[in-house]
Amino acid sequence: MAEGTMHFLLASRNRHKIRELEDILAADISGVAVHSLDEVGFAGDIDENGTTFDANARIKARAARAAALRAGHPDWYCLGDDSGLSVDALGGAPGVYSARFAGQHGVDAANNALLLQKLTGVPAAERGAHFLCCIACITPDGRELTVWGDCPGVILDAPRGQDGFGYDPLFYLPDAGMTFAELSGARKNAVSHRGRALAALADALGKH
Ligand code: IMP
Repeated sequence: MAEGTMHFLLASRNRHKIRELEDILAADISGVAVHSLDEVGFAGDIDENGTTFDANARIKARAARAAALRAGHPDWYCLGDDSGLSVDALGGAPGVYSARFAGQHGVDAANNALLLQKLTGVPAAERGAHFLCCIACITPDGRELTVWGDCPGVILDAPRGQDGFGYDPLFYLPDAGMTFAELSGARKNAVSHRGRALAALADALGKH
């Protein structure tokens, strides 16, 4: 391992998230390596039973910290993230239940259909929403910090665009004139809740 490298363990197995984190942190911090749970031999699932984004992010960061310590890496920064969609007209729902809004975990089509159904008849001016992302970080000395990213937009009444995942085809950015599903990955990262939370993390760690 390179001397001076800052090591991160992200409580995820999602290669896309790991890569995204590495790219954003590397822009602000020289010498960054981001590891996944698989790399520390963590085979189980983390029970995300919090009722807020930051509770879930902390649960994941603590699980990552325990795994890093078991694997002999007390000097790694351990991260957990949680994100979702908060719709104004629905009192902040689906929120932490975004992945399983329609019941089953991660069925995007059903989640989007339910969202449209719940917003039937709601006029454009009242269809505001936010994607939110919380990242919790446990530093090698055991301190916990959390950072947030917030991306405001509007929920359309029909899907637009082919890219992305989750609620992307319904989430419209007035400034860009496009939905998340119509933006390139790089343009989405520049404005998304996750991109903003990661930038805030890089900033906080730069000062750390
Ligand atoms: P996670 O915490 O990043 O796994 O996100 C939880 C759920 O929120 C996902 O399963 C999606 O339904 C929704 N979500 C989070 N981020 C995005 C995004 O960037 N686009 C669309 N949906 C998202």
